[in-house]
Amino acid sequence: MKKVNLREKLSTEVFEAISECMKISEICGIKIYLVGGIVRDILLSKRLHDVDITVEGNAKEFVEILDCYIKTKSVKYNETLPTAKVVFSNGVEIDFASTRQEVYDNFGDLPRIVKTGCSLEEDIKRRDFTVNSLIVSLNKENLFELIDLTNGLEDLKNKKLRILHKKSFLDDPSRMIRGLKFAQRLNFTLEEETKKLQEEYLKNPLENIPLKRVEKEIVDLFSLNFASCFDEFVAQKLYKIFGVDFTEKITGFDLKMALFDYKIDENDIWRLYFLPVFSKSEIPPKTNLTVREKKIVENIHEFLKNKPIFEDNFSIFEYFKDKDYLSAIFYGIFINKKIAKKYFKNKNTKIEITGNDLINEGFEQGRIFSEIQTAVLKEKLNNGLKNKNEELDFVRKNYPNKR
Ligand code: ATP
Repeated sequence: MKKVNLREKLSTEVFEAISECMKISEICGIKIYLVGGIVRDILLSKRLHDVDITVEGNAKEFVEILDCYIKTKSVKYNETLPTAKVVFSNGVEIDFASTRQEVYDNFGDLPRIVKTGCSLEEDIKRRDFTVNSLIVSLNKENLFELIDLTNGLEDLKNKKLRILHKKSFLDDPSRMIRGLKFAQRLNFTLEEETKKLQEEYLKNPLENIPLKRVEKEIVDLFSLNFASCFDEFVAQKLYKIFGVDFTEKITGFDLKMALFDYKIDENDIWRLYFLPVFSKSEIPPKTNLTVREKKIVENIHEFLKNKPIFEDNFSIFEYFKDKDYLSAIFYGIFINKKIAKKYFKNKNTKIEITGNDLINEGFEQGRIFSEIQTAVLKEKLNNGLKNKNEELDFVRKNYPNKR
């Protein structure tokens, strides 16, 4: 059996924390294992994300014992799953999960846990890909041995993503998005049968999808900020998961370029890649888009339908000023970059004269104020008024009789 040299592969701190867990596991006789992404990434010598330990039994029970014997910074339990998150005294965070058996009552539902504390073999069956089903034992009798119940090691060597059973995508379509995420991150490809099953699913996608899971995976996928994620998402027709079609000619490169052309909030990166997916279709019920996101999509629809053109800087300003900044960016991507850039250049333009200045000029308070202020702003945006004096001169010249 292949052994994994965890001491060499893990940081000193993580190894220390895991060693503490191993001691407690030996004392209380509860078996524990490293499972999932961490094993995959150790074997690939990739940067490690989360440390996940599976407890063959009840994770809460194990963590309670752990917490009695060692000093922890914090312990949080999730009673429903049941899982626990422990922050060790050296700052390392480890997630503990109980082995569990899950069933899907209907395709696309969230899974229902039918048993916790089942065997490791049962637990593995609920996982997504063989390469995410590899296990390293943390127990004395087979310490650091690699347990491979799904032939994941072979797939790992061949850089293949293979689902564990034929109905996997029907149970949980978010796995297709996970597949693309891992393929892009790890430079893997879908194994032939898995690819076929994905294509079959997309020909006849489910009405009912686990929206929360799907959207979490969308955020993870597009937050990678790879142009190729968008291109592959389109090439593989993964948008069909949402019941829409996509025929626009934009590419991941066009979207990625926007990050160089405009200032985009880091939390909006996934929106930059995802919202255009709805550019041609009504927003389907198969999404959890927020009011903000829906408005942006509606704006994209409007641009594409009406292709608005603008006479001057002021009309650009007026058109975009009450819209989300991402809407203006999408206008730049889909219709005209120069116009969008002009908008962002001028978007913070403000006039300097105030209501008091107009009173001092002899105007009576009323509707005329906003009329004048709009006219000054228009002049400033279109022909450039440099300072307050020039603004006042403009008012004096253009409104001589309205005082
Ligand atoms: P990352 O490196 O992105 O954290 P990961 O493989 O650790 O990747 P997680 O989302 O943290 O992924 O999930 C941990 C493990 O749980 C996975 O390795 C996989 O075995 C399992 N898993 C997660 N999501 C699903 C899913 N939708 N269906 C089946 N198994 C899943």
